[in-house]
Amino acid sequence: MIENETKKRINKSAEKVITTRNDNNNNIKSTQGGTKVDPHWGRSHNISYLTAFLSSLLMFTSPLMVIYFWTACNSYGCSLAEPAIELYSLLSSPTPSIVAVQSFLYSLLPVPTLEAAKLYVYWLLFQFVLYVVLPAKTGYGQQTPAGHRLPYKVNGLLAWVVSHVCFLVASCYFELFPASLVQRHWGGLLVAANCYGYSLTLFSYIKAHIAPSHPTDRKFTNSRLYDIFMGIELNPRFGNWFDFKLFHNGRPGIVAWTLINLSFGFAQYERIGYVTNSMVLLNILHAAYVLDFFVNEDWYLRTIDIAHDHFGFYLSWGDTVWLPYMYTLQSHYLYRNPVDLSYPMFSGVLALGTGGYLIFRAVNHQKDVFRSSPNGNCIIWGKKATFVSAKYVTADGTEHIGRLLTSGFWGNVKKCYKRSTTVIISNTYFIYCLFIKTILIIIGLSRHFNYVGDLMLSFAMCLTCGFEHLLPYFYIIYMTMLLVHRIYRDDERCFGKYGDYWIQYKSIVRWKLLPYVFINFNITALKFTSDKSSDDSIADIVKAQRNEGACSTTDIGANRDLGSYEQKIVIGVLPSSLQRLSIPEIYRTTDFRIDVPIPNN
Ligand code: NDP
Repeated sequence: MIENETKKRINKSAEKVITTRNDNNNNIKSTQGGTKVDPHWGRSHNISYLTAFLSSLLMFTSPLMVIYFWTACNSYGCSLAEPAIELYSLLSSPTPSIVAVQSFLYSLLPVPTLEAAKLYVYWLLFQFVLYVVLPAKTGYGQQTPAGHRLPYKVNGLLAWVVSHVCFLVASCYFELFPASLVQRHWGGLLVAANCYGYSLTLFSYIKAHIAPSHPTDRKFTNSRLYDIFMGIELNPRFGNWFDFKLFHNGRPGIVAWTLINLSFGFAQYERIGYVTNSMVLLNILHAAYVLDFFVNEDWYLRTIDIAHDHFGFYLSWGDTVWLPYMYTLQSHYLYRNPVDLSYPMFSGVLALGTGGYLIFRAVNHQKDVFRSSPNGNCIIWGKKATFVSAKYVTADGTEHIGRLLTSGFWGNVKKCYKRSTTVIISNTYFIYCLFIKTILIIIGLSRHFNYVGDLMLSFAMCLTCGFEHLLPYFYIIYMTMLLVHRIYRDDERCFGKYGDYWIQYKSIVRWKLLPYVFINFNITALKFTSDKSSDDSIADIVKAQRNEGACSTTDIGANRDLGSYEQKIVIGVLPSSLQRLSIPEIYRTTDFRIDVPIPNN
């Protein structure tokens, strides 16, 4: 019953518009309604040697980095500098001995143990069983580039509750093992998790070639190493229901997150005789984030991880090693370096974390409500939601309509400012409206305001550890890099998917992350290719548009060797201070509109 309802809702919200499309063209093409979309979005593309090299480098350096952090905590009280200083002093001694350096390096490595290996296998099996047997709702993911809309088993919250109850009852009530078990085997578990993470990467790569779950949703590049790193299959599965991505991210990864913290909390108690308020606060903040993930697991199916990222080293090793080890560094730190937070500090960190969480949830919720409302009909901040109807084409040649929200947190500051001004005029609640207006300007409004909330919460998590060491702050540094990089990745992907509709959306919602701070100043290049050369007519149109100030174009050329006409439009939006520099090829654009006609074949 619920399943049918959900299906109906999803089908409604993804209206299909049949269109004709030229499948053989690799370039951005015009479709019936004048849309320019890339029929290869989310699938094959070429990457540079540098990207391939950097991906390979990451596959080897990331595990070393995790080991380094583990060693710093395990043997050097969480000082990041000390292991390096010791190595440097060995190497720079008047008579450096290779044997001494070797034995020092070996001493830094975690040792594999049978107990840890068994523990890890039991943990994976336990999670696997919970995933399969616990009652589940059915959730649906986004439309994939090949046109699939996959069902998922959504029972993560139940799995989280069962896992934690079992852990606490077995350790504290039946005393089958100490509650600090995870901390005690942390080194051995690191080896086991790495073995699994690498095996899973290899397995996924082979599976993608010989037994893909959805062959048309595979993404191949010109580099095998990059394919191993970023993955080939979008949704690898065993059968119809066991989804690799949802399982590995959610279960061994995110369920483990709070269990690890808990275990380090117990270990701290065993070590110093009490649990610090910082450890309690850290557990609360992490638990809020993790529980939010499982309560809203259905929403997660439509985020970038599940909807767009392919399953390779990045996700398989990332979920099994990086996430449980690097996201829990603070609890490892607090176990080694107990911190008693002062009352004001405790309150401040709690307030920052709560504020961050509320923003994070509210922004994500707004998009989810909007996306699941038929035709985008919903009320946001007391007004009818506004959006850009963006067409995109899936591999089967079907054209769909996606909706890009342009109101609420996902809107644009100027619009809200204007609206609230109207309120001021029509009402006498001047102060109230001034307040609302100010809030809207401050909190609004960008393409990724959800990341702002996430970053605030992440920073609060780090602050629980005080200011003595850098190591606990790794999380906020990493999250900032991850999310900023995501903004660019998402921009590229959405441009591939929605073409100039995405540009239209970006011209309305101009800010990337923070209003007035992180503006869209990258150059967007649209390339249109057609078989006929009609330089003059297009050049005229472009010139006229530039004069009108409706859009900005440059770099018009023709590839006569291939007998084709090629036009590149470069669009940039710069903060007014930079516009004065009049950088060639970058022009300011407001109220942007592209309607350069594509010459017919
Ligand atoms: P978003 O939830 O912002 O999803 C981006 C996608 O949403 C786009 O690719 C596009 O996909 C769609 N979209 C973009 N703009 C709009 C719009 N205006 N209206 C409607 N749909 C839009 O990003 P993420 O998936 O990266 O993040 C989800 C949450 O998870 C965030 O809060 C983030 O902070 C958090 N996160 C946490 C991580 C961690 O390790 N702790 C890692 C990554 C994310 P399409 O149109 O194709 O549907």
